[in-house]
Amino acid sequence: MKSSVARELVERSGVDADVLVELLIRTAVSELTNFYYYTLLRTRLIGAQGEALKKLIEDARQEDLNHFEVLVPRICELGGNVPTDLNQFERLAEWSIRGTLETGDTRAILECLLKAAEANVRCYTQICNMTCGKDHRTYSMALAILHEEIAHQVWFLEFLGHGAIESPESRGGSPFVRKFLAPNVRDIAPAQ
Ligand code: ZN
Repeated sequence: MKSSVARELVERSGVDADVLVELLIRTAVSELTNFYYYTLLRTRLIGAQGEALKKLIEDARQEDLNHFEVLVPRICELGGNVPTDLNQFERLAEWSIRGTLETGDTRAILECLLKAAEANVRCYTQICNMTCGKDHRTYSMALAILHEEIAHQVWFLEFLGHGAIESPESRGGSPFVRKFLAPNVRDIAPAQ
């Protein structure tokens, strides 16, 4: 772990920077893993319910990529290293859809997606609790992501509950996290 001004300030405010950075790395890896599997999943969903789920997944997929994009610079500011070895990725991720994807069972896949969203909600809540009133930058970022993760959880729950064919209107990607994205990323992300 490298020393940095941001890291020094965070430590001085009473946050254990090592623990925080480790959590941030784990969530960043989860986000990118989710994005990867959502992308694969999109190509495998069939039937009316599959089509409806595709729409839902598209927003979650775009937003999880945005979450990864905002987490990585913060990890670097805090002197952390995002793993350069892709083999480490799945081991670090909290959850994986691997295995379920092959079954083509929409309900089982959905339950997996719900677990992923729940794991993320837990992680971001922990990050918010750690940084509240101390590390304002990480806190506001984690809180924004938390809002979007809770929405993903609700979408999947509703879909599971109602077996809905209808899916909510696309919200166009990251209404909460958008302001944290680098301008070049923000410009290519779909408009609200
Ligand atoms: Zn996410």
